[in-house]
Order: sequence, then C-alpha cells, then structure tokens
Amino acid sequence: MAKLHLITYGCQMNEYDSERVAGLLREQRYELTEDETAADVILVNTCAIREKAEDKVFSKLGELRALKRRNPGLLIGVMGCMAQLQQEAVQRRAPQVDLVLGSPAIARVAALIDQVRRERRPVMDTGEAPLVKITVRPPAASALRAFVTVMEGCEKHCTFCVVPRTRGRERSHPPEAIVAEIRGLVADGCREVTLLGQTVNAYGRDLAPPRDLAELLARVNDIDGLARIRFTTSNPYNLTDRLIRAMRDVPKVCEYFHLPLQSGSNRVLERMNRGYTRERYLDLVGALREAVPEMALSTDLIVGFPGETEADVDDTLDMVERVAYDNAFVFRYSRRPGTPAASMPDQVPEDVKARRHARLLDAVTRTAAARSRRLAGRVVEVLVDGPSRKDPGQLTGRTRCNRVVNFDGGGGARPGALVHVRVAEVLPHSLRGAMASEAEEAVCLSR
Ligand code: SAM
Repeated sequence: MAKLHLITYGCQMNEYDSERVAGLLREQRYELTEDETAADVILVNTCAIREKAEDKVFSKLGELRALKRRNPGLLIGVMGCMAQLQQEAVQRRAPQVDLVLGSPAIARVAALIDQVRRERRPVMDTGEAPLVKITVRPPAASALRAFVTVMEGCEKHCTFCVVPRTRGRERSHPPEAIVAEIRGLVADGCREVTLLGQTVNAYGRDLAPPRDLAELLARVNDIDGLARIRFTTSNPYNLTDRLIRAMRDVPKVCEYFHLPLQSGSNRVLERMNRGYTRERYLDLVGALREAVPEMALSTDLIVGFPGETEADVDDTLDMVERVAYDNAFVFRYSRRPGTPAASMPDQVPEDVKARRHARLLDAVTRTAAARSRRLAGRVVEVLVDGPSRKDPGQLTGRTRCNRVVNFDGGGGARPGALVHVRVAEVLPHSLRGAMASEAEEAVCLSR
C-alpha cells in the first residue's frame, strides 16, 4: 500500500475535509502514516484566515522541499483555503508543490493524484463546482465525537474576512444526506456530532424547498444511539427565534453556543459590515438565556480593526463583562489581501494591537473563570471519553457545556456512556470530580 501523510491547519471544517480525503484515498489503497519521511504523498490542508496561518504553511512547505530533494518521487499537494486564495503565491514560493486543489475538488483527489503521476507535471484544480457530500467513512470513524459539514461558504461579506473568496457562496447539503452520514457514524460508535458550516445558522436557505437549522436539529435528534448535538459557527445576523426555541426544545442539542461578536463598538461593527449592533446582540443573548438559562456562550473578538480607538476597545470590554462568556477567542486584526478592510485608512500599529489583545484576554479569562466557579459543587452530565491521559486511574469526558472533566469513575463507566459527576474542584482549564448517583439537580443536563 502507498503511504499518505496529512498535515491539517485551521478550522474544524479542514479537519473534516482531511478525514474525507484520507477515506477517499484509503479506497485507492493509500494508508495513513504519521511519519512524513515514509510518505509517498503529503497533502497540506491550509488556512488563509490570518496572515500567520499562511506563514506557517509556507514554512512547512519549505521543510517539505528539503524532503522532496531527498525523495524526488514524493508528491506534495496543497488543499484548503490557501489553495483557493493564494494559488499563484503557492506556485511561485513553493515550486516543489505538485498539486493544488481547492475545496470543490476534494471529491476528485484520487484522480488528480493519478493525473500528476501520469502527466509528470504540476496540476491545479481550483475552479467552482457544485457541493458534493463525500459519503466515504474516514479511517477514524469509530471516534466518539465527529464533525459533519452541513453547509459551506458565506455570503455575509464582513470587510475583514476572506471566507467568501475561499469557500464561495452558501451551499447546503440536503438533510437526508446529513442524516444518512450521521447514522453511519453512529453505527460505528459515534455519540456526539458537531454540525459544521461557516455560517451554520444560515443552513438550508439555498435548498428547494428551503430548510433551516432548527428543522435539521430535530431530524438529527431522532437518530437512535446519538447522545449529543453541537453546531458551529453561527452568525448573530442569522439567529432566529426558531433556532433559539430549537435549542430549548430539542433534547440532544447541548447548552453551548458560539456566537462571534467581533467588536462591542457599533462604529466598528458597521465598518466591519456585521449587520447588527451591540444592542441587538445583547437582545439575542437575553433571548438565549431566557430560553436556556444554563447556556454557555463563547465568542470571537478582533482587536485592532482599522480605525479602532481606545473607546471602541472599552466598548468591547464592556460587552465581555455584560455577556459573561464561558470562553472567547481574541484575534489581532490581520490585513487580508482583496478584502475591503485591507485598504481602509487608519490601520492600527502591531504594538497597539498587542496591548489591546492583552487587555481583552485578561478580561475574558477573568469572566470565564467566574463562570466556571459557578459549577463547583454542582452535578454535571458527562460523556465519557475513557481513561485520563495524565492519570489512567481517572476517567475523562466533557460536560454538555463543553468543559473537560476528570473524575474518579469507581471503575464503573465505559467510553461513550453518559454519567453524572459532582464537581469538586474548578481548575483553569478543566473540572475535577467524582461520579454522583443523583441527577435531579444536574446543570447543563439533558432534558
Ligand atoms: N462565521 C463566523 C462569523 O460570525 O463571523 C466566522 C468564522 S471565521 C472562520 C473565525 C474567526 O476568525 C472570525 O470569527 C474572526 O474573529 C476571525 N477572523 C476572520 N478574519 C480575520 C482577520 N482578517 N483578522 C483577524 N481575525 C479574523
């Protein structure tokens, strides 16, 4: 069997795509290897969201160039968002790359590799194509948790973002194909799925007849053997009352919601073209917490957007305090070629971005810690992963609010089981506890 080495950067959707590529190539007799020096084919799945992500890829491609000098038969491919956005730069800066394939070409990966071998010349396939649901199972199909792409693309045109150019227009998979895929995963032992889309809560608007995420959640909920459903990433602009009600009423949907805010300043939100104000965002948070009081919220924040002032940062800090996020990802604005914000005046110097980043990180760490402390002494539902890596005498798993819990399982719980754990200690990145017999007072509990 030929050997395939996969290197994946970026988001969960890239992880999902890499697994499908591994599955497709397994059918062509490629087996996965962890050792890049043993590989016949190396595919680098790339991210273009920030400049740093691209730098990492070019530096990796530099390392692979040396490997290819020692092993000229090695085929190197680049896939994912950089393949779509930076194809010329990839060809210019990394001439050792034999294959550049955009996201729509993933389903044809085996034929494209054959073409490179046959024609002995670099091949590029980055054109538009209809969305294809790849039904092949990934080699790691027996995992307890799995990602499932339900839609791709984004049409929001935030002025900082390359996604509309790398992943194209919003295109959804039909619910039947998604349900069939999840049934297959569950048959292989999967207990929790995360439905993925760049704007997952815009799911189904392009289908005929139109569908929505609320309906999809209800259909996935009906799959026997599945314990939990998550979904990401949502855009506040598309958050409907129907989806909020589904989060309240569909039992397997977890009480964890990632809702990117980006900035707490209305002036910046407008320049970002986000389509909502801080007041609208707070109303949505109010509605979510009214429907599901235990809802854990996480967000993405950008500091140093062009023209951002200290007063704008204060507004973002104020939102962090008001919303009290369980988790937040803070990014320094990265100037992306071809986006409207890249040519806006008043670009913020890097040292100022760094200072604002530190201020915001400090605030989100504080509020997240306060949210965690609430869980001390409470009983939480945990999906058991198995023995803890640090201490095999303990079990590890996750709560519905997506917290890692290490606990003394008394030898009783199998991987994949749902158990109740009383939280004894709240640590910065995890919880510690012991199995509890009673479930009545459980927080973030299945309904
Ligand atoms: N669909 C989501 C939304 O509501 O905007 C965004 C998903 S995006 C792939 C992940 C995060 O990367 C964004 O939420 C944003 O915070 C960050 N991001 C995107 N473009 C960026 C840029 N040019 N500079 C810094 N961060 C950026």
